[in-house]
Amino acid sequence: MDGSKAGLVVVGASLAGLRAVESARRVGYRGPITLIGEEVHAPYDRPPLSKQFLVDKRNPVPLCTEGELRERLGVRLLLGYKAAGLDPDSRLVRLDDGYRVPYHRAVIATGAKARGLNGSGGLAGVHTLRTVEDASTIREALTLGARVVVVGAGFIGAEIASSAVSVGATVTIVEAALAPLVRAVGEVVGTELARLHDLAGVRVVLGARITELLGTTRVTGVRLADGQGVPADVVVAGIGAVPATEWLSGSGVVLDPVGGGIVCDEFLRTSVAGVYAAGDVASWPNAIMDRRMRMENWTGAAEQGARAAINALFPDRAKAFETVPYFWSDWYGSRIQFAGTALAERAEIVTGDVEHAQFVALYSTGGRVVGAATLNRPAKIMKLRRLIERRSSVDDAVQLLERSPTAGVPEPAAGRAQSCP
Ligand SMILES: Cc1cc2nc3c(=O)[nH]c(=O)nc-3n(C[C@H](O)[C@H](O)[C@H](O)COP(=O)(O)OP(=O)(O)OC[C@H]3O[C@@H](n4cnc5c(N)ncnc54)[C@H](O)[C@@H]3O)c2cc1C
Repeated sequence: MDGSKAGLVVVGASLAGLRAVESARRVGYRGPITLIGEEVHAPYDRPPLSKQFLVDKRNPVPLCTEGELRERLGVRLLLGYKAAGLDPDSRLVRLDDGYRVPYHRAVIATGAKARGLNGSGGLAGVHTLRTVEDASTIREALTLGARVVVVGAGFIGAEIASSAVSVGATVTIVEAALAPLVRAVGEVVGTELARLHDLAGVRVVLGARITELLGTTRVTGVRLADGQGVPADVVVAGIGAVPATEWLSGSGVVLDPVGGGIVCDEFLRTSVAGVYAAGDVASWPNAIMDRRMRMENWTGAAEQGARAAINALFPDRAKAFETVPYFWSDWYGSRIQFAGTALAERAEIVTGDVEHAQFVALYSTGGRVVGAATLNRPAKIMKLRRLIERRSSVDDAVQLLERSPTAGVPEPAAGRAQSCP
């Protein structure tokens, strides 16, 4: 491998891309590495963008500096360059300025882009949140007394609402589904979590579709399908993200017709020889969870990036990638954590509730625990994640909870691994 002049090319200079580069060096790869990123920044952490960044003006700490990447990891860094195409026959990544980067192995880690609201073209005050630039613009707009409409009651929408409330804005969440977070955590837990919004004084309008954004040059509100108008100075869409794959058109890289992610096998190999994918952009069969999935969480992107690079560079050491998905979210001073899947026969809150500021919910199928959700129980969620990984029974999970029913200890920066080695 080391002899190949083209070396490893990683497209997407964020979490999964960085972890790919780091793990390549960690396992002893000495060949050339090129990291291509559309953003002009060194890789940075996105989770704070909807949380502390909006509230206390702390700028995100880079996951790794340009200097570390170049000097310590020996990476050729192409920041501010968008990959515009991939040619598998000549093994080239084409950049938007026409420049061509040869690869021997490639890892695609282009993540996802925030989905925008229809009809928002050019209207000031309407935002999406994915990048540090998006977050800076939203931060400027979140002021004392601002009327904020958050579209979508998912995790990012909830975090934006929480941040907006803490700077003194008045917030309404508009959600199309009849219960929030159904896809992510199921109806039982979604409905329970929605009570956090009530306790914080945030109005949540469920089953509501936005038919119109009001205003001529600047947004003044939104119109709902029932005719109701909700006034707004700021509208933020938290309606999901779409995998960033448009640049792969015509490349032969097969995309999943459901969800649009890059179809990978269990080794994170795409349909094109020598090309792997990792992070929010990748869809792969996850043996532990017995299903194909595409994750949109920090821990999964980090783990997948690291594995994709090793599999790409050292086929003799390749391992199938499997994981129990895990994510966290912070709203109104509470930490929500989830492990596994909510696609289960049964979902039940087995202890606690929102009023007591902590709970544990278990998800099971055929008597096996397949998922767990917690509110302010950080010590428990990691143990439950291990039980899910071991395919334990839901009874084992209940016993675990009974053994030490009190709250867990504060978790240091949950799910966050360290940056550069
Ligand atoms: C506001 C916010 C808050 C979040 N909070 C949490 C949380 O609390 N907990 C949690 O578990 N997860 C959270 N996440 C999710 C987590 O941040 C993502 O799962 C993670 O960033 C995915 O990493 P990635 O490297 O796969 O993709 P991304 O971080 O999306 O990075 C992809 C990179 O590729 C670049 N790119 C795209 N197309 C091209 C191209 N054609 N050429 C070159 N470069 C390209 C993009 O510009 C980007 O820099 C949050 C995400 C957001 C946006």
